[in-house]
Amino acid sequence: MSTDPSTQQEPTTGSGTFAPDPEFAAGAVARADLYDRAAADRLGFWAEVAREHVTWDTDFDEVLDWSNPPFAKWFVGGKLNVAVNCVDRHVAAGNGERVALHFEGEPGDTRAVTYAQLHEQVQRAANVLAGLGVRAGDRVAIYLPMLVESVVAMLACARLGAAHSVVFGGFSADALHSRIDDAQAKVVITCDGSYRRGKPTTLKPAVDAALAKGAPSVTGVLVVKRNGEAVDWVEGRDVWWDEALAAAAPVHEAEAFDAENPLFVLYTSGTTGKPKGILHTSGGYLVQTAYTTRTVFDVQPGRDVYWCTADVGWVTGHSYVVYGPLANGLTQVIYEGTPDTPDKDRWWSLVEKYGVTVLYTAPTAIRTCMKWGEEYPARHDLSSLRVLGSVGENINPEAWSWYRRVIGADRTPIVDTWWQTETGAQMIAPLPGVTSLKPGSAQVPLPGIVAEVVDDAGEPVPHGQAGYLVLSEPWPAMTRGIWGDEQRFRDTYWARFPGRYFAGDGAKRDEDGDIWLLGRVDDVMNVSGHRLSTAEIESALVSHPDVAEAAVVGATDETTGQAVVAFVILRGGHEEGPGTVAALRDHVAKEIGPIAKPKSIMVVAELPKTRSGKIMRRLLRDVAEHRPTGDVTTLTDSTVMDAITAGMNAPAGD
Ligand code: ATP
Ligand code: MG
Repeated sequence: MSTDPSTQQEPTTGSGTFAPDPEFAAGAVARADLYDRAAADRLGFWAEVAREHVTWDTDFDEVLDWSNPPFAKWFVGGKLNVAVNCVDRHVAAGNGERVALHFEGEPGDTRAVTYAQLHEQVQRAANVLAGLGVRAGDRVAIYLPMLVESVVAMLACARLGAAHSVVFGGFSADALHSRIDDAQAKVVITCDGSYRRGKPTTLKPAVDAALAKGAPSVTGVLVVKRNGEAVDWVEGRDVWWDEALAAAAPVHEAEAFDAENPLFVLYTSGTTGKPKGILHTSGGYLVQTAYTTRTVFDVQPGRDVYWCTADVGWVTGHSYVVYGPLANGLTQVIYEGTPDTPDKDRWWSLVEKYGVTVLYTAPTAIRTCMKWGEEYPARHDLSSLRVLGSVGENINPEAWSWYRRVIGADRTPIVDTWWQTETGAQMIAPLPGVTSLKPGSAQVPLPGIVAEVVDDAGEPVPHGQAGYLVLSEPWPAMTRGIWGDEQRFRDTYWARFPGRYFAGDGAKRDEDGDIWLLGRVDDVMNVSGHRLSTAEIESALVSHPDVAEAAVVGATDETTGQAVVAFVILRGGHEEGPGTVAALRDHVAKEIGPIAKPKSIMVVAELPKTRSGKIMRRLLRDVAEHRPTGDVTTLTDSTVMDAITAGMNAPAGD
């Protein structure tokens, strides 16, 4: 199918905009002049940002080398140590007693780690890894849940100039094996197990199984003791983390590495296909993650208590749990478990307990909270919150408004941040003290970022018209490639519009120039010659009071080319009645037009989601077209697909 989204219709716009509160704007870190400075001299702007946010051992002598596209070099000649920037320099500045991490285990155990303690842990861990033979340029696989040690492990790799490859702790031995193999990791860092929904889980057995498949590159396995579950032990290979750290020297002399030294490899979520191993390097990545954390969340170290709910297994956990916040010397919360353990108010109890001021989460979580109902946040005092963030998928206006009203007391700005594993850091987002917020829109490229919405020929489309989102100038945190697959890198991102980065997402600008994301261009539907965006119809469905979540796909149809097929989850307390489906179809027709009316709507208990919480529409499309489902290795729960397939094959009710 053609992926030209040029006639996609507008998403349902929310009700009005929210200008920044004057008091908030007056005290905000980022002012409107950032846009002017960046527009006047983009590379000069990035040079300033780089020197303001990062401490360089050797200053760079060229901001950007773009002589060999699509492989950029940023801050050429600059040398730095990323871990020193995230830890040592805060201690050196006299802030060693500031809490870096408030760890909350799922069972309720807690641990506050100061910057001074983090400093010592990272140095010891670096010495342990060095003792296991890890050198600059090597790779280390990290297979851990949300623990203090996960952060320490990543920083210890960075300190040594070795690249980490964090594999989400919920992935299978197979997924882990292919990632260890792909990166040729020398050491694997894991733990005995963790806690999930009140029960102990295990991780070490998956590592043992992965390595049993053959992984000659691996010479050592470091095992964190978390829940005391019994583990098999391979003498000579396995080492207890706590014993090794206790025995290691507490001081480690950090070396400065080139700005382009690899920092990590990380696989995409696999929403659209086989995951890609995305490579990021040091200087540019740290500059942009530090800068965006500070400006988009309006944070000040010492004042804010920041909490990003993402797992370290995803890019959000890399950029906005580890590198961005720690480079800024922030105090943050990390939480091991699920939001509904022991009850559905766990997150809100943590906001109250730690006085969280900035919360960054995903639309899937917000919609789940909507489904559960307002009684859970209502149990807690959430008045410490100043800024709320969203990332990962479109946040439809309904969820945006709920987030602001129920969690943000109708007061906090909401920053909807568009970016990707490949972009490394936020790209399109409002600045909370500057931008008048518009529910459902990611709004404007950040100062220093150049994005366009273009047609098939690469020409910018007029405001109001849909097109492809492209990034027309290199940016510091951009990926430096797909690990081991240069051709896929060129083909996926750079071939469609030569010289420009093609993000794979459809978008349009509204009459104010604000950017609305329309979903993946692969997901665009063509119904009787009309192009419809998934985001728009899903938004219309979720704006119905009965609906908590919706996923829409196009299925081949003899008469219309494609037909709109919708899958919906109802809100807590709403049951499917005889008129539900008809009412929802009419609602979409009223909100968008009869052309968008779904041919069928199936009420489901769960939607297939990646482990990072994104809806996997390609699997729903397989179901709607009665095909066997494609790659499900990154799915949270494969039984969800069985239930949907069974329901789909039952006699249709509409
Ligand atoms: P794969 O590339 O393997 O299919 P993925 O694209 O889901 O996986 P990520 O890099 O985690 O992996 O996700 C980036 C994508 O998430 C973006 O391209 C976009 O489609 C979506 N996205 C992220 N943030 C937003 C946002 N604020 N609004 C709309 N969509 C978003
Ligand atoms: Mg992607």
